[in-house]
Amino acid sequence: MSEPVLRVEGLRVAFDHPLGKVRAVDDVSFALMPGERFGLAGESGSGKSTLALSILRLIKPPGHIEAGAVWLDDARIADLDDDGIRRLRLAGIALVPQGSMNSLNPVLRIGRQIADAFADHGLRLGHREEQRRITALLAAVGLPATIARMYPHELSGGMKQRACIAIAISLRPKVIIADEPTSALDVVVQRQVMATLARVQQELGAAVILVGHDMGLMAQFVDRLGIMYAGRLVEVAPIADIIARPRHPYTRALIAALPSLEARGMLAGIPGLAPSLRELPSGCAFHPRCELAIDRCRAERPVLRDIAGAQVGCHLA
Ligand code: SF4
Repeated sequence: MSEPVLRVEGLRVAFDHPLGKVRAVDDVSFALMPGERFGLAGESGSGKSTLALSILRLIKPPGHIEAGAVWLDDARIADLDDDGIRRLRLAGIALVPQGSMNSLNPVLRIGRQIADAFADHGLRLGHREEQRRITALLAAVGLPATIARMYPHELSGGMKQRACIAIAISLRPKVIIADEPTSALDVVVQRQVMATLARVQQELGAAVILVGHDMGLMAQFVDRLGIMYAGRLVEVAPIADIIARPRHPYTRALIAALPSLEARGMLAGIPGLAPSLRELPSGCAFHPRCELAIDRCRAERPVLRDIAGAQVGCHLA
């Protein structure tokens, strides 16, 4: 059996604030197998994007990693020096960031931006080989070679997003982290971008972490899903299992919020608001919104337990 390509162990990320410390990621552990598509879902403020960025050591002060470790194969990411972390980004773990369409440099042609990714990682290519690789990367994301000579403002939103994916895969990473990669796109273009991501992921054999709040998109794309609430993983299970038989009340609420044909487009919504990370409720952080809460839920925080092929953090699971 193959080994995980990425391991996150007991990760804690905190932000220092004049009114006290805010823990955005709290004791999160999971492992990613080669080629696996893993989703991280939850409402905004659940810590999923912070977790994704902290894997790449991209958390900026006043945020910092308080505890835990991330491993890519045998390399502990905290031990890498600046040069090592620069090589890790793209060549080991590539990020397709949130709002990545705005992450393109507006004054550089797309081809130049891909070539810069090669140069940043010490690849010294002749002009002809560089052009060949740029054309191949654009083709891999379904873009014609002429895009290389264009500036970002000349492209549609979907084309820009595909250009971002081309840059992300330029060094053939083992893991791609896609943080809400389709959030600013309409539904048709969303599908095209996700199909592109799926195709290049299969061609590379890379694992993917897809961060988002759209459970419908998760159901179509990922193999396994982790649900985050108030900085913690509350359920992790294969996607078919989690959709058919969600075990955590919060997961059930997220799935019930999906529009269905039977409900004729009605959205159920999740009662109450996500808690402030500065003032988390006692015990289970979900208890003020949970219709199943019992006294124990207010007093004791549930731990993630293995239950029939899944992991669930609920006293009643
Ligand atoms: Fe609800 Fe209690 Fe389970 Fe939390 S531990 S989800 S409050 S039943």
